[in-house]
Amino acid sequence: MADSTREIEDLIELMARLPGLGPRSARRAVLHLIRKRGQVMAPLAAQMAKVATNVRECLACGNLGTGDLCDICQNPARATGEICVVEDVADLWAMERGQAYKGRYHVLGGTLSALDGVGPDELGIPRLAARVREEGAREVILALNATVDGQTTAHYIADALDGSGASITTLARGVPVGGELDYLDDGTIQVALRARRQF
Ligand SMILES: [Zn+2]
Repeated sequence: MADSTREIEDLIELMARLPGLGPRSARRAVLHLIRKRGQVMAPLAAQMAKVATNVRECLACGNLGTGDLCDICQNPARATGEICVVEDVADLWAMERGQAYKGRYHVLGGTLSALDGVGPDELGIPRLAARVREEGAREVILALNATVDGQTTAHYIADALDGSGASITTLARGVPVGGELDYLDDGTIQVALRARRQF
């Protein structure tokens, strides 16, 4: 690295801050970018600049888009009376990949955490409660992660929506599609057994 310029080292340092990239993979990525300047680096830089300028959070649901409202909130076909609550935009994308859900979302942007100073306001829970009442939503699906924080947050939201008239549901837990019992952890087997249903 002795003869590399300051600019390149700065770029490597920035790349190394990306999730999943350490200094070593950042160096490799930067070298690749420099070698593929025309095909990869220039279009990547242009696209990053475009996203940095244009992308913002939807005022209604917290999803990412380029206007005040995201594509899903603007689509009248998605006004099904269902609101699916997810922790993160990545979870929303996962739900969309599943192509099974046709309603709208509420993106929390995290979970309640006294330790990190994340309270209901930071997660837009009062905004969600207001929305459920204003829209007369008939179902709120809590699609939060099956972690302690996720479940604490789910219980808090269920309490906050008490009396809203919406039915509060949560995703099923248990044996994953294509899963083998022998590979499941004890907790998953216990939950799956409790949630068994008529065959
Ligand atoms: Zn939206």
